[in-house]
Amino acid sequence: MSDPKPTTTDAGIPVESDEHSLTVGPGGPILLQDHYLIEQMAQFNRERIPERQPHAKGGGAFGHFEVTGDVSAYTKAAVFQPGTKTDTLIRFSTVAGESGSPDTWRDPRGFSLKMYTTEGNYDMVGNNTPVFFIKDPMKFQHFIRSQKRRADNGLRDHDMQWDFWTLSPESAHQVTWLMGDRGLPRSWRHMNGYSSHTYMWVNAAGEKFWVKYHFKTDQGVENFTQDEGDQMAAVDTDYHRRDLFEHIRDGEYPTWSLKVQVMPFEDAKDYRFNPFDLTKVWPHADYPLIDVGTLTLDRNPTDFHTEIEQAAFQPNNLVPGIGPSPDRMLLGRLFAYADAHRARLGANYTQIPVNAPQCPVHSYSKDGAMRVQNVSDPVYAPNSYGGPAADTARYGEVAGWESDGDMVRSSYVDHAEDDDWGQAGTLVREVMDDDERGRLVDNIVGHLLNGVSEPILQRAFTYWSNVDADLGRRIEEGVRAKQDEVDPKADEQDNPARRGAQEKA
Ligand code: NDP
Repeated sequence: MSDPKPTTTDAGIPVESDEHSLTVGPGGPILLQDHYLIEQMAQFNRERIPERQPHAKGGGAFGHFEVTGDVSAYTKAAVFQPGTKTDTLIRFSTVAGESGSPDTWRDPRGFSLKMYTTEGNYDMVGNNTPVFFIKDPMKFQHFIRSQKRRADNGLRDHDMQWDFWTLSPESAHQVTWLMGDRGLPRSWRHMNGYSSHTYMWVNAAGEKFWVKYHFKTDQGVENFTQDEGDQMAAVDTDYHRRDLFEHIRDGEYPTWSLKVQVMPFEDAKDYRFNPFDLTKVWPHADYPLIDVGTLTLDRNPTDFHTEIEQAAFQPNNLVPGIGPSPDRMLLGRLFAYADAHRARLGANYTQIPVNAPQCPVHSYSKDGAMRVQNVSDPVYAPNSYGGPAADTARYGEVAGWESDGDMVRSSYVDHAEDDDWGQAGTLVREVMDDDERGRLVDNIVGHLLNGVSEPILQRAFTYWSNVDADLGRRIEEGVRAKQDEVDPKADEQDNPARRGAQEKA
């Protein structure tokens, strides 16, 4: 090991001691003029920044995305042209837990990417599931609050989780997924990532397509059972963060194969499901997966705080050839993410190196707290002094769609096969096997028995019966049997849980 470098203050001035404060004699008071001591204490008091709300607990790594297929017929985005290799950052996370919470709690996982393309940063904020609990951003804040902590005792509360879910039947597909095997991944390396949202792609001829992204893990999908996850939460709260870091450190680089589903623009109008509804998938039989390329993670952060905690992903970072769709959740997130970063990291968060583009930036943003890059005159547009000017030849290139209508507050227009239960039922009956269906019942029963009150329990049984009649019956029987085990002698008067079941029968 080389000789250690001499310690300095933040101003680069050599310090005299890493151990002893400046005092008046060995037993005397500490002197205010020990500015190095004061700098250390003051900096320490300011080390923490607000954690993300939600997705506070996570980890990430760097790597690259390499295009091996040819999707140039669908998008002109430079990042997706054949052979292109782009530096990429990824952050994985849970949703509801705080920054110190266990990695192996049952929860969806975030799967956020930042690709440093030649046309600016392209961000995708996906999850390990292709669907979500709700379809309108008006409900997002309420949904997250219901999954976090109560006002009175500061505790998480299954009663409020199920209250929200059962009053929001559009959640059924995602809750089925969450309670199934994939709701508890073995590691971040062993899960898929999905854009979940539908985006628009535009090709060089100006033709438009709708697209959904699927990052399929090349490590294979592997999950923990509830018991395995609970045990891991007790012994290693940071298991997923550690697993990713150690595998990359040891040269075992995880990879994902990116595939897309592409829907011709005109299909959207009368496709059997509303293709912009985030609670639905596009069945593979309708829109098969098309190969795009490979994501490889091969570099760990060296400073978790500056490179992962301060990483800021925002789905409004869309490069030419890629645009939003009428997915309302996506449209809400286009605003919400950048706003969250301004609140958490400050107005100039894009100048933090991990967030800075690798291509030239010529914006007119200036000043603000913590700005570190100089701006130069002229500071306004239009101007006569050679400042940046928008390339008006590219006007209209931003991917968009036509829209006309009265201002309304309404749900989406249902398409022929849209309902809240159908795709969740397909997942239970056609994708899961008997063993997984058994674990699904056990997971839901266990979750419901953890503090869910009677009227909401009744609603939950109806909710699951709507997904699948047999599943609903098994869940109700499972819950009642466990309640009987706890208090077999209770009669109708003093056991409202049983009374509810008997009334229903
Ligand atoms: P397919 O039979 O073509 O696809 C089913 C997909 O389900 C598989 O490709 C796999 O996705 C995924 N899957 C496998 N096991 C599980 C599990 N235990 N939990 C959750 N997902 C699992 O059928 P469809 O495309 O018609 O979809 C049927 C149902 O499958 C949907 O209602 C949806 O719930 C689920 N699904 C559909 C996806 C889609 O985009 N069409 C994607 C994922 C799930 P993968 O190959 O991505 O691992």
